[in-house]
Parts: sequence; structure tokens; C-alpha cells
Amino acid sequence: MLDKILIANRGEIALRILRACRELGVRTVAVHSSADRELKHVRLADESVCIGPPPSSESYLNIPAIISAAEVTDAVAIHPGYGFLAENAGFVERVESSGFVFIGPRAETIQLMGDKVSAIRAMQSTGIPCVPGSNGPLGDDAEANLRLAAEIGYPVIIKAAAGGGGRGMRVVHSEASLLHSIAVTRAEARTAFGSVIVYMEKFLERPRHIEIQVLADQYGNAIHLGERDCSMQRRHQKVAEESPAPGITAEQRHAIGQRCAQACREIGYCGAGTFEFLYQDGDFFFIEMNTRIQVEHPVTEMVTGIDLVKEQILIATGERLRYRQEDVCIRGHAIECRINAENARTFNPSPGRVTQYHAPGGPGVRVDSHIYNGYVVPPFYDSMIGKVITWGEDRTSAIGRMRTALSEIVVDGIETNVLLQQDIMQDAAFEQGGTNIHYLQKKLGSV
Ligand code: ADP
Repeated sequence: MLDKILIANRGEIALRILRACRELGVRTVAVHSSADRELKHVRLADESVCIGPPPSSESYLNIPAIISAAEVTDAVAIHPGYGFLAENAGFVERVESSGFVFIGPRAETIQLMGDKVSAIRAMQSTGIPCVPGSNGPLGDDAEANLRLAAEIGYPVIIKAAAGGGGRGMRVVHSEASLLHSIAVTRAEARTAFGSVIVYMEKFLERPRHIEIQVLADQYGNAIHLGERDCSMQRRHQKVAEESPAPGITAEQRHAIGQRCAQACREIGYCGAGTFEFLYQDGDFFFIEMNTRIQVEHPVTEMVTGIDLVKEQILIATGERLRYRQEDVCIRGHAIECRINAENARTFNPSPGRVTQYHAPGGPGVRVDSHIYNGYVVPPFYDSMIGKVITWGEDRTSAIGRMRTALSEIVVDGIETNVLLQQDIMQDAAFEQGGTNIHYLQKKLGSV
């Protein structure tokens, strides 16, 4: 077993990782910025090290500071959580060359999947269905690009190969604006991601976002844990998620899930990962792979009973997968609502002191959050302050429990998006299930 793990993250996911370590009897090192001394996991960890000032560029993204913290505390492994350095291949190389275990896939895998063009190519070669498109970087030949778009059919979307976080994408509705849009996306990609590589895809007009969770070990064993529906989005950012996805049959789940598990074996994937798809008219189209634990992982844990963070640690320890595909059974339904420190109507961030906090509870209710009475939400980081997850024997019961949970939660002193989540949980189309990725944005208008 890995003796001591350094948690290179903050907030709810750092606490989630700490809990998994404790269950496994692993000692923990928390690293934090000077703004985060009062974080719950920092107080609970066996040791803690301040790695820099509040801006993440000088703390949570400060590779030398994190490596030295691991050295001085004699940690043996580093868990990156999500965001920050979780998908930074250079970080993984530094971690490994300094003699530590990185809890995640190999650097080469992260590199391969981090470039969307190489990811799509790798997936195509393993038989994973992709969105019809350029199947590679766009060149500078205007005629060829116009011909390609006409073949794919408008609307098309121009995407930066190095893009992420919903940035570096532009939809093109007609030939007249194609060449200009390619030029602008290239220029933006150069500034934002330091790469001018862009590619073209068919723009799907009413898809759902459905993703497959996988686990793979170092010995070529790989399984899938079903899907999550993350179509409730605002500005390409997920707001609420659920598992299983409404309307997806056991046969569909099995077919796409097996393909993902097979792709893991073929690319030598190791650890927890997610294949993201757009789903429209019964077809799945791969868009990208996330090579890390995801925010919405609890809904999968609730319906499978498998602790994904513990499995990540065991896989990194060198253990064989403890589950075979036939051991994975999807039971009931789970929903997650992300709770953000922001105004529920304007979405303006609302940092500050939490003067009063009451967490919801009861059967089938799970709260993953680091906040407590008196905790001060700093203004420097992502506004998510926790997640409420409910499980029920069916979707109706999971929604009912979520409505009750949201009516119980009290977070005073700052503004939160609880009202928005209550709106979504009462929404007739959501209640029916299967809304597409544009639904919430349309419901909200232009905010
Ligand atoms: P990022 O890495 O920035 O998250 P993705 O490629 O995962 O980018 O796409 C993010 C979101 O953008 C998707 O969930 C979907 O809402 C939208 N999107 C991406 N590609 C397409 C497409 N071909 N057609 C329609 N929507 C798309």
C-alpha cells in the first residue's frame, strides 16, 4: 500500500481524497495556498504544507513547490484530483522523475488525450464512433476547407485541438463566415493555448452529453461503470448530472461501455477515466476523454456501490482490478446538484464568510462539501462549494429526495445557486428526462 499520499488540490475533492485515504489507512499530506489554511481537509490531514500565495499560478499550479512538499514530508504518491495539474503531462513526468507515484494514467496517455485531434485519431483506430469531421488539423488551403465543410454539411464547429473548459470553439452556420471563423479560432487558440491547430466537426444541434466511466489497471484489465447524463449545462459547464441516463437501454449501455473498455485495453489506459460523448438520435459521438476523476463521479458511485477514488489509489498501488465487468451492477438512480457560491440569477460569484451552514440529510442523501459554519469562501478559485447527491430506487424517488434535500440546505452569509437547482428539479422537461445540452441555456435566456 502507498504509505503516504500528498493531495495536490483543494476544496471538496481534496476532502474526498482524504476520506478515501483514511479508509485505506494511508497517511495524508495537504498542500494549500496561504488563502486556504482553514480548509477542512488541511485541518484533518496528518500533515500540511503551505505552497504559496493565493493565486493558483503560484500555489496549486506551482510544480516545484508541490514536489518539494512531497520531498520534505516523505510522501510516496501524489493525487491530483481534478482541474489544476490533473491533466498536465509535464507534471506527471516531474512527479515520476522525482521518484513519486502519480495517481492517474501515464504521461503519454495524458498527452495523447490532451490533444483533441490525437485523441480523436486514437479513438477512431479503436473503433469508437466520433463526430463526422476533418479527422485531423485544418490546413491553410481555403478551397479545401470550404469543400470539407460543404461535405460535412452546415452548421459546423471549429475547435482548438488544445482547447478545454468550453473555450476555443466557434459554430459556423454558412459558407460566408467559414474562412473568417477558422482564422479567428486559430488566433484565439494561439493566445489562449499556445497552439494554432484547429479542426472541424459537424455541429450537432440537439445532442445530449452522455459519458462513460471506466476503470483500468496496469495489467490490461478494464471495465466500464455505466454512463452519466451531463446535459444540464450553462455555457458548456455542467450544472447537474445523473446516472443512469434517462432512456438509455441496458443494451446501449453495454455496447458503448464495452467499446470504451476495449479502447482502454488498446491504448494501455490505466486508472479512472471518462469517455465523453454527444448522443443524438440513438447514436454516440466521441468528443473527448478526461484522464482523471470527475466532479460528477459520485452519481456513478451511488448506483454501482464502487468507490472510484479508492479504486484509483489501489490501481496506482499496482493492484489488479477488484471487479470484473459482470460484478458491476447499476442499481437505482442518482442525481447530483453542484452548489456554487454565486447569485442564482446573475451567476456573479459570491465569496465571503458562511455565517450559518446546515447540511441536508436522510436516506439516500450524500453531501460532498468542505464548508462549515464560519468558513470563508476565498475569491481566488472556482465557485463550487459542494455537491448534493441523492439516490433513490428509481429516478422519481431520486428527484423527490433532491427536492427535499435542497429545501433543507442552509448556507447563510453568501449567495448560492440553490434556487436555480430547485428550479431545475421542479422543471417539467427535466422531470420527463432526456433534455439536450441547450435546454438550460434556453430556459435561462442570455445570462
Ligand atoms: P471542452 O474540452 O472545452 O469541455 P468539449 O469538446 O468537451 O470541450 O465540448 C464541450 C461542450 O461543447 C460539449 O459538452 C457540447 O455542449 C459542446 N460541443 C462540443 N462539440 C460539439 C459538436 N460537434 N456539436 C455540438 N456541440 C458540441
